[in-house]
Amino acid sequence: TDNEEKHSIVLLGSGSVGKSCLVIHFLQNRFVQDYDPTVEESYSKMVIIDNKPAVLELIDTAGQDEYTATRDKYIRSGEGFILVFSVTSRSSWNKISEIYTKIRRIKEVESPPAILLANKSDLENDRIVTRDEGEEFSKKYNLNYFETSAKAGINIKSSFEEIVRVIRDYKRTIKKK
Ligand code: GDP
Ligand code: MG
Repeated sequence: TDNEEKHSIVLLGSGSVGKSCLVIHFLQNRFVQDYDPTVEESYSKMVIIDNKPAVLELIDTAGQDEYTATRDKYIRSGEGFILVFSVTSRSSWNKISEIYTKIRRIKEVESPPAILLANKSDLENDRIVTRDEGEEFSKKYNLNYFETSAKAGINIKSSFEEIVRVIRDYKRTIKKK
């Protein structure tokens, strides 16, 4: 129907941080160890969050280069963004602020709906990016921050629920204007 609630959510982040594993875990409740890193896929899922149904279109981007025309296209059409880095990769963390800046520029809004995920938090011994760093950045940009593990199934459901809430809040505010 026309008044069906629908949100387009784009996962962004460096290659191999766990974007595909997070999406698959959310959809199927299992950890798929080796998902083709080159496959760009979109999924549709009906969810009920805070007692309200919504259809989520999840876009799992692939590839290393954040600055392709396709990437820009996803940012343009996306309504909410899940930014993912791995706590075991400094370079994936460094990419986060680049990506978020890019989203803000393309969307031409100060705070586009987004959340930040520090994935692979099960690999505590290989951790390079601290929780403090993640939290500080999130505070600065008013993002919600989650430490996740696609492998151990930690914080995945709550992250996806949170991005829906953030998008709902955002849509409510722009409607009021
Ligand atoms: P993508 O390129 O961002 O889509 O990354 P993938 O989802 O394909 O994952 C890249 C690699 O990291 C794979 O070998 C996964 O098995 C592994 N991986 C993904 N998430 C986790 C996690 O939370 N913990 C651990 N230990 N490994 C993970
Ligand atoms: Mg992938």
